[in-house]
Amino acid sequence: MQPPPNDDDARFRPPDDDARFRPPGMAAPEEGPSAPTVDPGRAKRIRVSILLGVLLVVGLVYLRIYLQENWTPDWDQSQLVSVQILVPPNLDEDEQALLEQLDSFSFADEGIPSITALDDWFSAEQKRYGLQSSGPPVIFSVVPSKAMRSDPVAPPKGDEPFTERYTKTNAFLDFYTSHRSASPATNTIYVIFYRPTTHPEFKKIHSVADRRSRSGFVFAALDDEGAEAAVINLGHELLHLFGASDKYKGKECAFPEGYAEPFREPRHPQRFAEVMAQGIPNGPGQSETVIRTFDEARIGAQTAAEIGWIDEERRARYYAGDVSAGPTLDEED
Ligand SMILES: [Zn+2]
Repeated sequence: MQPPPNDDDARFRPPDDDARFRPPGMAAPEEGPSAPTVDPGRAKRIRVSILLGVLLVVGLVYLRIYLQENWTPDWDQSQLVSVQILVPPNLDEDEQALLEQLDSFSFADEGIPSITALDDWFSAEQKRYGLQSSGPPVIFSVVPSKAMRSDPVAPPKGDEPFTERYTKTNAFLDFYTSHRSASPATNTIYVIFYRPTTHPEFKKIHSVADRRSRSGFVFAALDDEGAEAAVINLGHELLHLFGASDKYKGKECAFPEGYAEPFREPRHPQRFAEVMAQGIPNGPGQSETVIRTFDEARIGAQTAAEIGWIDEERRARYYAGDVSAGPTLDEED
């Protein structure tokens, strides 16, 4: 008679093949630890290969992120930039009127901050570094304004715990990319208008750039001054996308890289703002002049090196005091 199964696992046990050859009365062999089916050397080799495979995948993912975050443009070709203008939903009449003004900011007249002016500014700055290219360095295509599903989403703050920041960053990117209108441009700058009366918290938010997705996010108040500030920030964020870093320490422009003309004699007041520092230094202890248009901003040698306009040797020569390695200077008034 078969002994009753004494545990639930019995039915899953493989049949004892040797049992049928066992003469009656002979005890079944004692059950010890199951004999190894793979020799230890082979098992180790399998474990090592799995580990190496995992490391390789992690390494490749890391490399891809590194390359995406350290990418600089190939300036032999024009950089195509799609400007996507997003506005809050349900605009009232006054806001609608403002928006019409803002929509025209892309092709406004000379002297007014506009995307066209920004285009020309990039070309002029590149020429000052003596670079010859077949076309303009940057070509913008502006997508007409589009209403968002809700009021804008703010980027995560830098001081939040990693996991929270990670989740919020993804939600932030998803929200805006879901509003992106189709464009063949590889670079995208979202100009996001917020209502300054109901969302004053956005006033303190610095625009952000995500180099991995080649997207920049510029926050602008939906008021008279918003569009002006938006154009200046647009140029600044775009340079972040191209690899430039911020050049201010606290509220001051960092010296020498945050100065458009660090070797000017006397050093103060400066005539221009370095675009990644965004203020015109007037002197120690004095407040800096806030720029209103791009005509007042210049691309400094450090930024030029970061975006790949000049090489490291030329950058170093310039900051060692050889002004001829830098950009051509504007004539004195
Ligand atoms: Zn910045």
